[in-house]
Amino acid sequence: MIDFRSDTVTRPDAKMRQAMANADVGDDVYGDDPTVNALETWAAKRHGFSSAIFCSSGTQANLLGLMAHCERGDEYLCGQQAHNYKFEGGGAAVLGSIQPQPIENEKDGTLSFDKLRAAIKPIDPHFAKTTLLSLENTINGKVLPLDYLARAREFVNEHGLKLHLDGARVYNAASALDVDIIEIAKHFDSMTICLSKGLGAPIGSLLLGSSELIAKARRWRKVLGGGMRQVGILAAAAEIALKENPKNLALDHENARYLGKRLNEVTGFAVNLEHIQTNMVFAKVSGDIEMKALAEQLKAKNILITAANPMRLVTHADVQQADIDIFISELTSLLRS
Ligand SMILES: *Cc1c(COP(=O)(O)O)cnc(C)c1O
Repeated sequence: MIDFRSDTVTRPDAKMRQAMANADVGDDVYGDDPTVNALETWAAKRHGFSSAIFCSSGTQANLLGLMAHCERGDEYLCGQQAHNYKFEGGGAAVLGSIQPQPIENEKDGTLSFDKLRAAIKPIDPHFAKTTLLSLENTINGKVLPLDYLARAREFVNEHGLKLHLDGARVYNAASALDVDIIEIAKHFDSMTICLSKGLGAPIGSLLLGSSELIAKARRWRKVLGGGMRQVGILAAAAEIALKENPKNLALDHENARYLGKRLNEVTGFAVNLEHIQTNMVFAKVSGDIEMKALAEQLKAKNILITAANPMRLVTHADVQQADIDIFISELTSLLRS
């Protein structure tokens, strides 16, 4: 299968599986898993935070971040397109009694500081208490500019808010900017990283922050049923993902640009190549192409896409340039018939 649906579909490679089989483990709820402890310690230091917690998913890592920053009745500012607003089942509201205040994202994925300022509530019993600004990087494949992050830091300082980054794909952002991850991480009070997307681990995300924040998150993780036991088996794969795989993301980005260019050769598909900053390609599809049927036909040729318009295609370690060529030729011949 050539799978363009997401970078979450990557499978652990032989080296990861070997590390998983050989991992030293203990009961992590007791703090006894040496592999988890080593991962958390290393990850905190590497990204400039004092503490880290290994979580089952990015959704859980974001939720723990929100619940650790905010009390019941607080609110967080975020993008209308933010994953932790739109795609996480309303978890902050459902499980944390935290109200989201979404702001329309600008075209480049940023949030306007004027709009954010206008959304901050006065201290008054009528209103939820605005506590946190949550950004996302990358967002829909787009990279937030470094000077925007610096201004976001100034903005939260000015208004007494905390700053969280949903960094599910933050390593893609660092790769695209060709900067060390610290140049992004340094602006934030907390940050998540998905290890199970482009970085290739089978399962797991990290939440990074101060020791105090992570202690709170650890309590909430247990409450949410996320206290896992001999989870060093997963942390062993996560460690490889985090230490060794960031360097591979540049190839995913190159493949995305190649995919965009090839897709533009196909009648009925239009890709704005300037929008391809990382591993995501968005194509506008002409109205006479029935995406659901097309996705079914491609599936019969062992190619998986999400049937949507615009069509989102994602590159990752299990998609090579030759696979892109196969996709384009199958797509071309299906459209011809
Ligand atoms: C994938 C993703 C998450 C978390 O997803 P999980 O599937 O729960 O690991 C969070 N934020 C963004 C931006 C994502 O793309």
